[in-house]
Formats: sequence, structure tokens, C-alpha cells
Amino acid sequence: MSIKILPPQEAQKIAAGEVVERPASVIKELIENSLDACATHITLYIEQGGKKLIRIIDNGCGMNRDDALLCIAHHATSKITSIDELAHLSTFGFRGEALSSIAAVSHMKIITRTHDVPEGLQLTIEQGTVASETIVATNVGTHISIEDLFFNVPARKKFLKSDLTEWRAIQNLVYAYALDYPAIQFTLYHNNTNVLNCAATTNLASRVEQLFDQSITQHGIEVTAQDESIATHITGLITNHQYNRFDRSYLYCFVNNRWVKNYKLTSAIIQGYQNVLQQGKFPCAIISITIDPQLVDVNVHPRKEEVQFLHPRKVESLLTETIKVHLEQHITTKLASPFPTHAMYTAPAIPTADMPTSAIPSITTPSAQQPPFRVNPPLSELPFYDASPFIPTAKERPIDLIQTPVVASEISEPHVLGQLLQTYILIETDQGLSLIDQHAAHERILYEQIGKQLKKAESISLLFPEIIQLNAADYTLIHDQLEILAQFGICAQAWGNNQILIFSTPVFVKQPVCKDIVYTLVAALHEQQEITSQQAQTAITHSLQAMMACKAAVKAHDPLTQQEMISLTKQLMQTTNRLTCPHGRPTTWTIHLSEIERKFKRIG
Ligand code: ADP
Ligand code: MG
Repeated sequence: MSIKILPPQEAQKIAAGEVVERPASVIKELIENSLDACATHITLYIEQGGKKLIRIIDNGCGMNRDDALLCIAHHATSKITSIDELAHLSTFGFRGEALSSIAAVSHMKIITRTHDVPEGLQLTIEQGTVASETIVATNVGTHISIEDLFFNVPARKKFLKSDLTEWRAIQNLVYAYALDYPAIQFTLYHNNTNVLNCAATTNLASRVEQLFDQSITQHGIEVTAQDESIATHITGLITNHQYNRFDRSYLYCFVNNRWVKNYKLTSAIIQGYQNVLQQGKFPCAIISITIDPQLVDVNVHPRKEEVQFLHPRKVESLLTETIKVHLEQHITTKLASPFPTHAMYTAPAIPTADMPTSAIPSITTPSAQQPPFRVNPPLSELPFYDASPFIPTAKERPIDLIQTPVVASEISEPHVLGQLLQTYILIETDQGLSLIDQHAAHERILYEQIGKQLKKAESISLLFPEIIQLNAADYTLIHDQLEILAQFGICAQAWGNNQILIFSTPVFVKQPVCKDIVYTLVAALHEQQEITSQQAQTAITHSLQAMMACKAAVKAHDPLTQQEMISLTKQLMQTTNRLTCPHGRPTTWTIHLSEIERKFKRIG
């Protein structure tokens, strides 16, 4: 084996792989260049998820002829001259490798003009070198078109996901930059359809309204905090305890204006909600961390998607505390006012660290269709699923838990000793004492019942279709996936304008939860890379089934009658996976007799 130096073009194509992973990574570099060029309006035209065309038009400073000819050279940058300058960097770019990398793996065209010349320059670039140069009439700023990305790197092209998946990544990215820069106008087209046009605004909340629905700002709390010891300043917008999503897709973190994907920062945000949001529920949070550039390394990731803090723990705990404190302040303020605007109390208690979420006061607006925290309906009303508000009392609960015929007639009557903390059913068995988590057990039972009804769930037509408003990103994701809901007896249709109409629901689902079903589907789709695969479809069905089961199941702290406990236990015995709930939590814990006897020193 003899060593050979790769021809420069091949070497460049290989190096490009570091920077250019997929269309979204190209767009990231191009947007950052436009921001570095002080553009105030950025327009993007995307075709076929960016595989066919990416065109970006900005009104930034443009490039003069010399710079334009040089910008596609490797390590050509106007932003730094030595690595020491990274400590004071105020631009996104600094490596001078984005345009050269993109040019090496696509057909590129650049049109650019600076303010001091009357006409612009158009360059076509093939295989990383300038193939033609023309004078053109154009506005001040820069247009860059990228066609047929990876046309000359088939191995890479093969790994691109479906157009829809690539488009989702692009949309997420553009949304993130739009949140990061409210003062910049962003316009986005996909396959000649305008999907976003958000005018420049002076504050984050209005940008959030431009991008998402109003529910976020209605539940929004502005946060701000600083810790001088680590030269860190946090600002942002978070949602309160009354808002939740089923996925993490609305958690955005920016560090010195860079959008970063940092699991620890996201966890720090979620940690801040520990006492007010149930597990598996997520807020929306748009957090901007400004930190002395000397205390953060931005040069740790090939696509600059990660940063490394000098004092990561301190930054994370500042973030968690900031969120906690603002949430507490918000809830306390609501409780302190006897007549809060548009709100009324249902329970006068301030949540504490050890208080369960269900104990947090639910503050409902008169027009709100759903209460922020739901409690269970009587089991009699609950063949499967209901989320209407109901304060349970033992008296109002006739015993009607068994919905499926008892097939295992051999199951002997469980000997229920009682209910511990209105959460665990205590059963005496031959082996000892079993504790059954009533919520986990009921979830498992309902999950299996819903599973048996799949594809043959009876449905009822709604008198008026329910309209569910989504934002553009979620709508794109879901609008041609609504068939999945049909197996649950839900007839849903995409209606344009980011709206989904629900025409019928299964008999076991009450209308108000349609929204939750649609949101769960959105969340499940977000989790999947390739929606069409069988594996993804199974995972999505599981999420919907588990969510319906969870909603319908009795909760911890719901009182149950003796007979309800007996029937719940018997039904659990008839399920196939009775040891865990659909989310994997155990349903039962048995303390063996021998262990009890050992504890009391009856045996050695
Ligand atoms: P970097 O951003 O790291 O400097 P790039 O390869 O992304 O490297 O860009 C190279 C250079 O091209 C930039 O430093 C900048 O001078 C110029 N440039 C790129 N895009 C634009 C733009 N949209 N407007 C003005 N100048 C640009
Ligand atoms: Mg750049």
C-alpha cells in the first residue's frame, strides 16, 4: 500500500462532509453569513427539502469583486486573522470554510453588490472554482443559490432523508434563527409556497406569536437573571405551569446568539419545571444566554452546533434557578390577587417542592375549553377515555370498571386490604403483600383494551367539526399523516391555514381531548426521522395508545372503593404485560412473606 496525496478537489469534497451534512446545515451557514453581513431581511427559497435548490437572498453589505472571487477559497474569511481573536468574536463565522465546502459539493451561483457600486457581480461556481463572471443589475446584498447538493458525492446523497424530513430540519432551523433574531425579517418558501414571512419586531413575544400560535404568549413569562461571577446573563420567554407539550421541540437555547443543541441546558430547563409539570410534559422555553466569550469555546463542533462552557454546572444551575424562581413568582402573584384578570381559582394552595402536580391550583380562563390540570371523571363514565374536568369523590363513583368480559374465570377474588395514600392498592396474597400502583395498573389495562379496538374502534360524528390550530412547522409535519388517526376511529382532515379539522371521534373519546391527540401525534412525529418506516408507525401508534390510556386512567390520590380496587386488580391479572405500564413503570411490587417474617425476626 503506497501513500498518495489526494487530488485537491477530492480532498475538498471529503473535507466538505464535516461542515455540510444535509441541506439544513448549508442553510445554517448561509443564514449566519447573512447575519454577519448585517442583513435585516433574509429570504429563503427551498425546493424538495433543499436537495434541488437552496436560494438565500439578503440585504446585507454584499461583497466587492475581490472578496466575491475569494470567498469560495478554503480558509477565506473576513472575520478573524488569528485564533486569538476567538475570545472576542462577534460574528458567527470565523473558519472561512463554509462557502468553499458548499461550493465543492454543489452547483453554486453568487450574485452580490456593495452599496458603493451601481451594479452587481454574478459568479457561477463549478467544482469549487469560478466558471463564469458577469455584471448584473441587482440590489445591494447577496444572493446565493445552491443547486443539486451532493450531486458529485453520491455516497453522501444516498444518506439524505426524505424531502419531508429534510424540510422539517430546515423549518426548525429557520424558526430557531427567527426566534434568535426578532429584529430580522425572515421569509421562507418551500416548493414555491410561502410558509413564513415574519416582519421585523422589537420583542421576542411578538416574534413568538408570528411563528407559533398565541397560546404560548398567553401563558408566557419573561425571564431575566444574571450571575456576575460567571459573567453570564440570561433572558428569555418561558411558558407557565398551565401550558405543556408532549415533546421537547419548543425548547430553544441560544448562547451568545448561537443556537446550540445542548442536552444539559435542555435538562436544566426541564429541571426548573420539576414541581409544576408532570413527567413527560414539556414547556416552551426560548432562552438566550449571553456570556463573556472568554468563558465559552465556540470552536468545539464541526458545524458549530455545540459550545463548551468553562463552568457548565454554574450556567446550568443558574438556568434552572431562573426558571424555578420566575415560575414561583408567577404562581404566587396569581394567588395573591383575589380577582386575577380573566381567571378564577379552583384551589387556593401554593405549590411546594413536595406537592404533587395535581395539587397545584388550576387557574382557568372563562373562555378556556380545557382546564390546565385535569382530574379524572367517574369511572362509570369512562369506558376508555375522558378528560373533562371532574373532582372525584368516592360517593360519585359507581363500580363499573370492567369493560371487557372476564375471560379468566379462574381468577380468584383478590383480597384487598385497602388503599395506601389513595395511590396504592394493598393486596394480601399467598406470597405476601402486593402493592399495586393504581394509575400504572389502570394505564396498562386501558392500553391493552385500546389496542384490541384498533382499526375497529366505533366512532361518532361530531355535530360541528373541531378545529385545531397548529403552527406551520407542526402542520407540515402532520398534515399528510392524519391517516394514522383513522385506526383509532378519528376522522381528521387537513384544512389549510395550518388547521386540522376533526369530524368524528371514537365513542370512547370525548371531544375536548381531540387537541391532545393531535398534539401527541405531532410529538410522536417529531421523534421519528423516517415517518414512513414500519418501526416509526408502530412507535407512533404506541404513543397515541399510551397517551389515551394515561389520560383515562385513575390517578394517584384518587380514592377508590373496595370493589373498584378488586375489579382493577382482576383486570390487571388479565393483561398480557401486567408488570409495567405502557411507559415502563412497574405496576406491582410484592413484599414476600419470608421478607416480612425476617424483618420481624420470626425466621432467621
Ligand atoms: P466565514 O463565515 O467563516 O468567514 P464563509 O466561507 O462562510 O466563512 O464565508 C467566507 C467569507 O465570505 C466571509 O468571511 C464573508 O466575508 C463573505 N461572505 C459570505 N457570505 C456573505 C454574505 N451573505 N454577505 C457578505 N459577505 C459574505
Ligand atoms: Mg460563514
